[in-house]
Amino acid sequence: SAQERLIIVSNRLPYRASHDAEGHITLERSVGGLASGLGPLHEQDGNLWIGWMGDTADFDEAEQADVAARLAACGCLPVLLDPADAEAYYEGLSNSALWPLFHGFPQFVRFDEAEWEAYRRVNERFCDEIVAVARPGDVVWVQDYHLMLLPTLLRAKLPDATIGFFLHIPFPDYETFRMLPWREDIVRGVLGADLIGFHAYDYVRHFLSSCRRIAGVENTSGALTVDGRLTQVDAFPLGIDYERYRQAARKPEVQRAAAAFAEEKGHEGCKVMLSVERLDYSKGIPNRLHAFDIFLDRHPEWEGRVVLVLVTVPSRENVASYRALKKQIDELVGLINGKHSTMDWSPVDYYYRSLSFDRLASLYAVSDVMLVTPLRDGMNLVCKEYLACHDGGGGVLVLSEMAGASYELHEALRVNPFDLEDVVGAMERALTMGTDEQRRRNAPMQQRLARYTSEKWAREFLDAAHGVKQRQAGMS
Ligand code: UDP
Repeated sequence: SAQERLIIVSNRLPYRASHDAEGHITLERSVGGLASGLGPLHEQDGNLWIGWMGDTADFDEAEQADVAARLAACGCLPVLLDPADAEAYYEGLSNSALWPLFHGFPQFVRFDEAEWEAYRRVNERFCDEIVAVARPGDVVWVQDYHLMLLPTLLRAKLPDATIGFFLHIPFPDYETFRMLPWREDIVRGVLGADLIGFHAYDYVRHFLSSCRRIAGVENTSGALTVDGRLTQVDAFPLGIDYERYRQAARKPEVQRAAAAFAEEKGHEGCKVMLSVERLDYSKGIPNRLHAFDIFLDRHPEWEGRVVLVLVTVPSRENVASYRALKKQIDELVGLINGKHSTMDWSPVDYYYRSLSFDRLASLYAVSDVMLVTPLRDGMNLVCKEYLACHDGGGGVLVLSEMAGASYELHEALRVNPFDLEDVVGAMERALTMGTDEQRRRNAPMQQRLARYTSEKWAREFLDAAHGVKQRQAGMS
C-alpha cells in the first residue's frame, strides 16, 4: 500500500560523519553492497534507516546533535550506544565470536558472557528505538549478525508487523554452530521474523538443520511454524549496482587513472593481477601470497612480466587477530619482494588503505586477472564488481569456491584456496588465457549480474516477505 513504510535496521547507518579539513562536519554516503542495494528503497518517501552512529568520541555534544539532525534529514535515525556496550557488542561478541565462528575459524573465537550481555542489551536498545517510531503496517527489515536477537524482541512488541531478517555472512554447519554457548538464543532470536534470508542454499540448509536440532523446529521446504506463526527461510543472493560499475569503467577520468597506473608500472606488456579486500583472515591473503611465491619460483619466465597489486583495506584494527594478520602479511610481502625483485621490478605492489570509488574502478579496469580467493566468504561483491568493469570484454576472474558468489559464477576459474597447487595452477592459466576464452567465460556471468542487481535482490526479498504475510492471513 502507498502508506506502507520500510524501516531498514543495520549495525551502521549508510552515512559516515567526519570532520573535514576546516573542522566542519561532513556526511559521506557509504558504498558497499548493503548501501547500494537498499539505498534506492531507503530514499523513497518516508522510509527510515535505523543504525548505530559509530564511535562518536570525535564529536562534542553540540556536534553530535548536529550530526543527528542532518542524519534525520536523510531519513536516518541514529542509535546512540554506551561506548563500553558498543565495544563489547561490536568488537566483542559480533566480531570476536559470531564472525569467526560463522566463517569457520574457531581458533579466533572468544566466548565471553559479559560481551554476550552487552550484545543482548544493544539488541534491546535497537528494539526500543524501532518500537518508538513504528506504525501499524510498517515493514521492518533487520540486517546481519549484529542483530540476531532483534526479530524476536520486535515480535513481542509488534506482533502483527512484517519483519524480515537477512544474514550477510555464511551460516555454519550444525557441528560448528553448536559450539556457541548462546546457540539457542540466536536461533530463537532470528525465528521471530516472517522471512529469513541467506545468500546461498547451503546456508539455508545449515540454518534449518540447527533449527531442528537446537530448537526442535521442523520445516517443510523452508517453511517453519513458530508459536503458531508461519516463517519462511530462503536464499536471496545479493548482487551489485551493475550499471554504476559498468559506466565507471568508461568514465574518462577512470580511464586516465588506469592509463597512468599502467605507465607508472613502467613495464611494457607487464600483466596486472589484482586483489582487493578488507584485511580479514577470512579472505585468505597469506595463502594467496604463498601461492604467488610458489608461482614465481616455478616460472622464472614471468620475471618482470607480472605484478600482483595487493590492496588490503584497514578493518577492525582494535581486534587482536586482525593486528596479528597485518603483521603476517607485511612480512610475507617483504619476503616475496626480497626474494624475487630485480633492480627495476618488484612482484608485489602492496597498499594498506581504502580506495575511492573511481580509483577502485580504474584498478578493476586495468587488471588482467582478479584474484578472489577467500577461505570463506558469505557472498563477495568484489568479484562481481570486477566483471561489471569488464563488461563486453576480457579479464580473468579466479574465484574461490568457498565464496557465496561461486554458486552464481560457474564460468570463473574456480579454486580451492586451501589447495596451493590449485591456486598456483589457476594463476598460470589466468595469465596465459586467450582473449576469446576470457570473453566467452565472462559474457554469461555479466548477463546474470546485469539482471540480478542489488536493487532486484531487495525487491525480491520484500515481495517474498509480503507473500509470507498473505499465506499467514490465509491460514488463520
Ligand atoms: N570497497 C570499498 N573501499 C575500498 C575497497 C573496496 O568500499 O577501498 C568495497 C567494494 O567495492 C565492495 C565492498 O567494499 O563493495 C566489499 O564487499 P565484499 O562483499 O566483497 O566483502 P566484505 O568486506 O563485505 O567482507
